[in-house]
Amino acid sequence: METVTSLAATRYQPTEYEHAANCATHGFWILPSLVGGSVLYFLSVDQWHRVAAWLYGMGLTGLFVTSTLFHTAAWKISHLRKVEQRFHMCDRMAIYFFIAASYSPWLMLRELGPWACHMRWLIWVMACGGSTYVFFFHERYKLVELLGYVAMGAVPALVILSMVDRAGVCELATGGVFYVVGVVFFKSDGLVPFAHAIWHLFVAIGAGIHYYAIWRYLYLPGVIKVQLN
Ligand SMILES: [Zn+2]
Repeated sequence: METVTSLAATRYQPTEYEHAANCATHGFWILPSLVGGSVLYFLSVDQWHRVAAWLYGMGLTGLFVTSTLFHTAAWKISHLRKVEQRFHMCDRMAIYFFIAASYSPWLMLRELGPWACHMRWLIWVMACGGSTYVFFFHERYKLVELLGYVAMGAVPALVILSMVDRAGVCELATGGVFYVVGVVFFKSDGLVPFAHAIWHLFVAIGAGIHYYAIWRYLYLPGVIKVQLN
């Protein structure tokens, strides 16, 4: 309990307006991501498209839901340190599963090389590994945590680059740039007003670009093909 309290005490305490902005900037996206996931599901032309739509939709919605729950807890029940800490852990775990979910449609629906195709399941093992790390060492080694996210984001990108069909890679990279630039704000709590809410917006824009690419390059071509037949 002592470590929990001291960790929470050293963390930046947002103002009331910042708390509200932190909740709103991710809470707003819960409904659109549910709708977005459903749209992909209904555009699916086969079983694999449907599974990928489910995984991706769950990852996307899950991220915004856990983030909103955590920020609401940090705002309204911050005196219940243990509870807030649990929500914070869920928020951090959801990021790992969100990254896995974001890559999944590309890994599942595109043709990959004999080695690269193993990333389809490996990415979920990585997400479980990252979450297990969060469970045991949450907030203890901040650099290791950041490196975990960077590895999770960068390693599958190498596999994506080996895809036979490269359409969409440009959008994937652009979305990735938004996440990376956003980290600057993630690390600027107390230095830049509303830094965390700005980080949330960068995440939302990155996720939006990735959603567009998945819809445009992985789901729409199947629909067009069906209509032409
Ligand atoms: Zn947040």
